[in-house]
Amino acid sequence: MSAGRYIGRFAPSPTGPLHAGSLVAALASWLDARAQGGRWLVRIEDVDTPRCVPGADRLILQQLSASGLQPDETPVWQSQRGDRYRQALDRLVDAGWAYPCGCTRKDIESAWAAAGLVRSRHHELVYPGTCRSGLQGKPARSMRLLCAARASGGGYADLQIDWHDRRLGAQRQNLTQEVGDIVLRRADGLWAYQLAVVVDDAEQGVTDVVRGADLADNTPRQIHLQRVLGLPTPRYLHTPLVLGANGEKLSKQNGATAFDMTHPLQALQQAGAALDLQLPPSTPATTAEWLAQAVAHWRRRYPVVW
Ligand code: GLU
Repeated sequence: MSAGRYIGRFAPSPTGPLHAGSLVAALASWLDARAQGGRWLVRIEDVDTPRCVPGADRLILQQLSASGLQPDETPVWQSQRGDRYRQALDRLVDAGWAYPCGCTRKDIESAWAAAGLVRSRHHELVYPGTCRSGLQGKPARSMRLLCAARASGGGYADLQIDWHDRRLGAQRQNLTQEVGDIVLRRADGLWAYQLAVVVDDAEQGVTDVVRGADLADNTPRQIHLQRVLGLPTPRYLHTPLVLGANGEKLSKQNGATAFDMTHPLQALQQAGAALDLQLPPSTPATTAEWLAQAVAHWRRRYPVVW
């Protein structure tokens, strides 16, 4: 891959305005694209419509623009891309990787209790695979992805995904045990983030995913989906999380407020500090000057190993 082909992206969910934490992800993906002489795209991830806040998408784009982070192409909205997700799901069903599931959450909890299982270390309710071999008369609710290896003789074996993160190094997850068969289309008919993100990253030619460390755990399931769909796997870099006063990840749920668009330089400086960019203490006059300095520091701090 040559540096000229680099395509990065920032993919916010419009559940509210950007706050100090989400600005870090935006800045990091922008800096990486600029440092590699690449292109930077913005994709509005509005598939989970009940969580979307009307107008948040416009506000996010304004906040990015006020910070000097301009996308190189017109942003895309996932809500307008359902046909692509449907085509991908059809391919997965045809290839035997996706199947209908008729289980409610209660069914899954009961199956767990009956089998004496414990929750994974990620506290997810790992799907026990009840509908893998058919719905047994239940109506289909959701569509799931088989997250196991097919063993010879028709059975299943654990699927382990090894991957590399540019900041965190070598990573490994047993997808079958720790995650289980994930939902691709929800019981309410909405597309799941995992399917939408994989389809869009591939279609937009994204070579580098730079995003918050809270999503690192999702990467193995996305790599599995890429593989079964025959799509390339991008490079990954998960940035440090900004913690709130309570020591938890900064999020709207724990009171993060929108960053102040009247002081974008200050917001950028804070985001740069969270990314461990050791910029000189002298204060540049404009966001453009600060960003130009930050690109040089980023290149040294997070080099790309091709
Ligand atoms: N839309 C996701 C979020 O806002 C990020 C997706 C991604 O970067 O892969 O948390």
